[in-house]
Amino acid sequence: KPTGLADPDLFREAALIGGQWVQATSGASVEVTDPATGKVLGRVPDIGAEQTRAAIDAADRAFQSWRKRPHAERAALLERWFALMEDHADDLALILTREQGKPLAEAKGEIAYGASFVKWFAEEARRIDGSVIPAPAGDRQIVVMKEPVGVSAIITPWNFPNAMITRKVAPALAAGCTVVIKPSEFTPFSALALGVLAERAGIPEGVVNIVTGMPAAIGAELTANPTVRKLSFTGSTRVGSILMAQCAPSVKRLSLELGGNAPFIVFDDADLDAAVEGAIASKFRNGGQTCVCSNRILVQAGVYDAFAQKLGARVKAMRVGPGTEAGVEIGPMINAPAIDKIRRHVADALSKGATILAEATAPSGDQYAAPVLLGGATTEMELASEETFGPVAPLFRFETEDEAVALANGTPYGLAAYFYTESHKRAWRVGQALEFGMVGLNTGSVSTTVSPFGGVKQSGLGREGARVGIDEYLETKAFHMAGL
Ligand code: ADP
Repeated sequence: KPTGLADPDLFREAALIGGQWVQATSGASVEVTDPATGKVLGRVPDIGAEQTRAAIDAADRAFQSWRKRPHAERAALLERWFALMEDHADDLALILTREQGKPLAEAKGEIAYGASFVKWFAEEARRIDGSVIPAPAGDRQIVVMKEPVGVSAIITPWNFPNAMITRKVAPALAAGCTVVIKPSEFTPFSALALGVLAERAGIPEGVVNIVTGMPAAIGAELTANPTVRKLSFTGSTRVGSILMAQCAPSVKRLSLELGGNAPFIVFDDADLDAAVEGAIASKFRNGGQTCVCSNRILVQAGVYDAFAQKLGARVKAMRVGPGTEAGVEIGPMINAPAIDKIRRHVADALSKGATILAEATAPSGDQYAAPVLLGGATTEMELASEETFGPVAPLFRFETEDEAVALANGTPYGLAAYFYTESHKRAWRVGQALEFGMVGLNTGSVSTTVSPFGGVKQSGLGREGARVGIDEYLETKAFHMAGL
């Protein structure tokens, strides 16, 4: 168990169903390891299909009254949940780092980011309203109302164990939906700590349910059960499309935030120092394990060498180690398959002509991947078409703007893209030409509560955060009042 928590009660090894903290009726459990040590951090129950059904039923019962609560009351409960997250930010960050690996400073940043969605949607809860349309027939008015979708399944990944949950659950609750959350089996403790705080905030039992354990059985029930009206998923495109197919027979509403393959383009007329900063931020956040991390760095021929040199110096100096150690910038990778994929991508690139331009040093052991800058990357390499999800920065050389745009768009994904130029005309042209849900000009960051987050093409459906984020949990009802 993690030591050093001010409030050890936040660390729970139980699932939350209808206001009860429970173990699996089968007795089965799943071990959770600390990626920095490879040692067991704790265990959570392996909730199978039957208890998932109980959680759905609890959410359905709670929905009947939660949907009717005045919006201001739902807002006040969310505000209280937000305040508790702020009060316990240090403990939440420590739990997060221990199960996920990211440096503590980044974990604290994630808690603040995660909490910001609760605050934002507490505010949005008060602004759910409709409209009145004058009907063509004179005796009629059409009232357009917004209603909660219903019980929502929330399936989230391990790379942001806190914020990916609040970004979905806060708008769901604000809209009047109740939820069954299935966190990643690698990082359930951050989710469970949020459950403790939701309970303390006074959010009624059954509004927030958390089922832990292996995904297939839980996912099958969440997607097949007709009481579940909505699935919001963040994770891989592979699993997202499986879940989409599983939801098809019962025609559920879907929000999917899937994989990316973000290009980061540096044009000849870029501010190179700013571009280096942006590349570091967008490539190495969370050790490269985010879906908006730059996967391909495209650099125009005129600045290629200068950019490579500047970025190389930064990469070489990066500090790798346990996330709990002060000054560490890159923590351990989440697990052995993640390390394998990184090694495979680097080996494949080197075998096809890439070269190592700079490399940091990492502690020995199978938990760590050293940040590396590769030169001479080409589209034939695996890392050009697959997300590496690690601290590997490959440089691709290009000559013309058209070539850069074609390379950038040459992927089935369309989540985030970044580019650097000082020309306003090029900024507008390229900004329009990039087929991505989020585009950063002269910045390596596009994640903020107030901006719509989501992708096009095989990167998903729907948007999270921003004003539109709550629409994902609302239905529109047209109420025709005739004979007036
Ligand atoms: P990542 O690449 O982030 O590991 P995954 O798509 O594998 O993405 O996992 C994201 C989430 O989807 C996790 O909570 C995981 O447990 C869950 N998941 C994986 N497979 C399934 C499945 N067959 N049904 C339901 N959920 C699943």
